[in-house]
Amino acid sequence: MTQRLAPETEQAVRARIAYFRDLGVFDFYRRNSAFSGTSNATVADTNSVVLAEIETVTVTDIEETIPAHLESDPESAPPMPSVQARPQARAAAVLPVLTEPAKPTAPKDRAVALQAISEDIGDCTRCALHKGRHTIVFGDGDPNARLMFVGEGPGADEDAQGLPFVGRAGQLLNNMIVAMGLRRDQVYIANIVKCRPPQNRVPEPIEANTCAPFLFRQIDVIQPEVLVALGSTAATYMLGGKSPLAALRGRIHHARGSKLIVTYHPAYLLRDPRQKKEAWADLQLAMAELGLKPPAK
Ligand code: URA
Repeated sequence: MTQRLAPETEQAVRARIAYFRDLGVFDFYRRNSAFSGTSNATVADTNSVVLAEIETVTVTDIEETIPAHLESDPESAPPMPSVQARPQARAAAVLPVLTEPAKPTAPKDRAVALQAISEDIGDCTRCALHKGRHTIVFGDGDPNARLMFVGEGPGADEDAQGLPFVGRAGQLLNNMIVAMGLRRDQVYIANIVKCRPPQNRVPEPIEANTCAPFLFRQIDVIQPEVLVALGSTAATYMLGGKSPLAALRGRIHHARGSKLIVTYHPAYLLRDPRQKKEAWADLQLAMAELGLKPPAK
């Protein structure tokens, strides 16, 4: 029986196809299976054909990347709710499945590759956040950066200027970057969602799940040596599961071929400056990985 994908799943699949396209994978082979009803294996080398195919299957691979539910307090995350049983992944017959994607070959021109992602996003209406935004905040910085910061989502200043971390939290992030011996234009900064959530609330899972694939594509283009997740929302979606921030800080994780360090969100540090010392310890971990020394005073 033909079954249409839910719109959010379709978006995720489209993003996955674009992701594979960035990796240089254009051809998708469909096995001759009881589900498909096709005779010989067919090759589809355009997205439209692939999408036509996937509209008839259930795709679970992408949904597994990100937890289904998130609590709202970004700094005190309760344990992950249990994952619901899923139907058999018939998509395996259609799409190549990579649980932990191999590091893609770096594009020749990362700026051009980022521009292509931005164009794919277009004047996005994929989730409800578009209704309240003024500007899509794509990301900012050096496409060849060794260090990349990932925040949660734009606030009012970012929404007005179209740039990440330009408000008060951004000022603090700038200071943190300088303390590491770097300039802001030497790093890359982006967020889990590219449109401002109303009242700066935490993005809903459906919003983050819809938007994060574009962030992942940006990361795959930039291939930073070190990623720093700023706060619980960034850590959750970068790691694909929710844990208390305290359990994630102070060690090296891995995400999308990069080392990942988790620290407090600068907005949280503005509310509780006593934690700055802890955040500095996290940044020193990142510096050690990058071979950076703090600038001489
Ligand atoms: N907070 C974020 O998480 N991202 C921004 O860009 C600004 C504030």
